[in-house]
Amino acid sequence: MVRLTLGFVHLQGPSVCSTHMGQQITVADNGKLNVSNNPTIPFIAGDGTGVDIWPAAKHVLDTAARKYGREIDWIELLAGEKAFNETGDWLPQETIEKLSEYLISIKGPLTTPIGGGFRSLNVSIRQILDLYVCLRPVRWFTNVPSPVKSPHLVNMVIFRENTEDIYAGLEVEAGSPEATKLRSLLHDALGWNVAADAGIGLKPVSRSGSQRLQRAALNYAIRRNRKRVHWVHKGNIMKFTEGAFRNWGYDLVREEFSDVAIGWEDCNGQAGDKILVQDTIADIALQQVLTRPAEFDVIATMNLNGDYLSDALAAQVGGIGIAPGANINYMTGHGVFEATHGTAPKYAGQDKVNPSSVLLSGVLMFEHLGWDDAASDIINAVETTIKEKIVTYDFARMMPGATEVKCSEFAAAVADRL
Ligand code: NAP
Repeated sequence: MVRLTLGFVHLQGPSVCSTHMGQQITVADNGKLNVSNNPTIPFIAGDGTGVDIWPAAKHVLDTAARKYGREIDWIELLAGEKAFNETGDWLPQETIEKLSEYLISIKGPLTTPIGGGFRSLNVSIRQILDLYVCLRPVRWFTNVPSPVKSPHLVNMVIFRENTEDIYAGLEVEAGSPEATKLRSLLHDALGWNVAADAGIGLKPVSRSGSQRLQRAALNYAIRRNRKRVHWVHKGNIMKFTEGAFRNWGYDLVREEFSDVAIGWEDCNGQAGDKILVQDTIADIALQQVLTRPAEFDVIATMNLNGDYLSDALAAQVGGIGIAPGANINYMTGHGVFEATHGTAPKYAGQDKVNPSSVLLSGVLMFEHLGWDDAASDIINAVETTIKEKIVTYDFARMMPGATEVKCSEFAAAVADRL
């Protein structure tokens, strides 16, 4: 397997998309994105508070991009309630096609329709585009209220596998004909006895699925100069799924990354200049990210563990109002950057909530495009704004002496500090 070199080529040439002023982002065979200074990027504003946070975040992203002579050609795509009201479809085919065609996009939160066989629009987008990495960086900004004593020690990046595990949706309901059939099959073929009133779910974890996630985590660590990578798993109990994930991770380090990384068991923790790769059982990992956060850097884990871990960590640094996320396929070039919280319907349209989650997802998107200059300007401006205690309600209620501002006012304050 060839290691992907994730560099960036900045195009000046035409390659103009037929219906828009911008230029389409493309991907080369080696995974490199070709990004002009005027890329076309689709957005989904999102339901509920999406109407508040998206325009706020867009203002900051545009201001930061323009500082460096760049102009994003945004195109709106429909999904969620807006799509349903306008087209009768929660996730129109045209949206999927455009997300696929334009490679990189950003979205606000979407309502999960109840019933109708829908699991979640977000899950559907991830599955259709095979976005196998859920990327969640977790860091603290000075002054953000935190329940822990040393939140400044939290600076981790979680790579959560997005397509396999118990989340694959291979489930049958207790008492259904499918469950009865599966129970008999398991009994006859393997001698397994499953209770007659049990729902049954499958937990597929493949070598290829694990290693593409682990490869992405290692490449990220190399690119971002991170020193440690942890495989977090529950392999002591689930040996052939989670335990295999661990073993395949160490195999990958030996087979593809031995020049830059080394597994704990091959160096007894003495990695020298190389990236140290180690593994931790999921339950103790959840303790240690609280008690010894400085020891964690890049974490790669399976779907369910990653879900728990990313929300638990987000709480340490201020909660979901400020937690960014991205769903990426590093091979096809697809990336959907998204706020990690939901639609918070009780606050919708009040210009109240914190826009940082979707804004910092935009920062992740800029980094992914190779726009590190504008990305770090936004980070610095967010840091300064919060340091000055100019914050939205969610932080203000826990921050003595804070100036509580609206969602749009927070964005304006950040843009002013760029
Ligand atoms: P939620 O929308 O995330 O809201 C839960 C609470 O989180 C809010 O009441 C608020 O807390 C806080 N919060 C959320 N967004 C915030 C922001 N921008 N700034 C500050 N605080 C914020 O969760 P939910 O109420 O369970 O879900 C509502 C809908 O969203 C559901 O349809 C769900 O399926 C969907 N959802 C979508 C996504 C997604 O699109 N990625 C993710 C999760 C849920 P306080 O009340 O304490 O102020």
